[in-house]
Amino acid sequence: MSKTQTADQITEARRESHLFYLSSLRRPLIDRAEGIYMWTQDGRRFIDGSSGPMVANIGHSNRNVLDAMKRQMDRATFAYRLHFENEPAEELARELAKKLPEGMDRIFFVSGGSEATESCIKLARQWAVATGQASRWKVITRFPSYHGGTLGSLSITGDDALAETFEPMMRVMPTVPAPTAWRDRDNLSMEQRGVRYADMLEEKILAEGPESVVAFIMEPIGGAATAALVAPDSYYARTREICDHYGILLIHDEVMCGAGRTGKFLGGDHWNCKPDIVALSKGLGSGYAPLGALAAPMRLVQPLLASGGFQHGHTYAGNPLACAAGLAVLGEMDRLDLIANAAAMGDVLMDGLKGLAKRFPFIADVRGKGLLTGAEMVADPETLRPIEQGEKATQRLLDLAYERGLIIYGRRVKGGVDGDNFMVAPPMIVASEQVGEIISIIGDSLEVLA
Ligand code: PLP
Repeated sequence: MSKTQTADQITEARRESHLFYLSSLRRPLIDRAEGIYMWTQDGRRFIDGSSGPMVANIGHSNRNVLDAMKRQMDRATFAYRLHFENEPAEELARELAKKLPEGMDRIFFVSGGSEATESCIKLARQWAVATGQASRWKVITRFPSYHGGTLGSLSITGDDALAETFEPMMRVMPTVPAPTAWRDRDNLSMEQRGVRYADMLEEKILAEGPESVVAFIMEPIGGAATAALVAPDSYYARTREICDHYGILLIHDEVMCGAGRTGKFLGGDHWNCKPDIVALSKGLGSGYAPLGALAAPMRLVQPLLASGGFQHGHTYAGNPLACAAGLAVLGEMDRLDLIANAAAMGDVLMDGLKGLAKRFPFIADVRGKGLLTGAEMVADPETLRPIEQGEKATQRLLDLAYERGLIIYGRRVKGGVDGDNFMVAPPMIVASEQVGEIISIIGDSLEVLA
């Protein structure tokens, strides 16, 4: 496709596209991307205000990452893990282990977030079998939540809109409510509510039978389904206690909130969490290569190794090119002190969002940590009555911002709390003037929506 074609010609030429994704979504063709900006072939510039789906953590076209990938490309792009080991994978695992909670030093690479969470479930189950606890297979999950789109990861995703059609093809796992404590209208303090939400996990474990439960999975800071939901502090320690008490593994899905963007390497680090298994992806490859990982301590991995190894693996897992990209991404995160910048710019962004919530009372809550922020819109801020389904507030807001050259993220969730959320999560290299521009465009878009 020539760059000189007009937008109309491009649309005409693409009418016959063989690609299919969502029913009606047609978007302009990407031309190039740099820093926090993306340009389309029809000459428009966008601010990547959500790093795509919270992926491009270190920004687009980072020269050092591209150079590291080129160097690796000149040596070997692929070497199958059953035939060869490779240095970038070894080094990335070593560097990752340094950034993870102490003892989380056994790393298994995959190529994406769904593969990462699904691998966590399989690791947990195989650990149970290998340690003589074969009755344990249920993974308790939160509702709403998002853990991926493959059948295994969908079975632990709390969103009826995504799961309903496929339910006969998978076992949908038991759920507990996500800790949407800010919504609760009772006389409890936030910390008491945090304990109450965690205690619902204990009730669910007892109802299911503790001997049947292998793990509890949660996003330490919510993602696609709950828009950067942060639980009260008390929730984190209490869920750990409950899992320990019943011998259940605590899995943290850090696919969206991990890899630095919240101002700590892991979302759970804000509460000094010590999960048993961690899933990572998105920001780990930062859009340079499909990459994901799970991390676990030796005490979980050893029983598997002793019984023949982890019965799992994907062809592209741990390939040298993706790992070289991941290694360079971590290097740039350190060199540019991006985690500190995410914390500082997160404060500026949060101030901006709070300003918008004052201006537009239908924004009932703003939340998040660092550069993973979200806001929830309702029809009535007193009763929290949701916006009518037909109004599609989230999509309308995303479209208004898109027309104004800003990409933000959001999805309407079905079941549990039917919420209209949007998320703002620019790359970690963002500067404060750019945050100001993002807030200003969201403000203009909300003005139209109001
Ligand atoms: N887990 C979380 C928390 C996510 O946010 C996502 C994607 O949004 C996934 C898992 C699935 O990742 P992927 O889309 O790379 O398969």
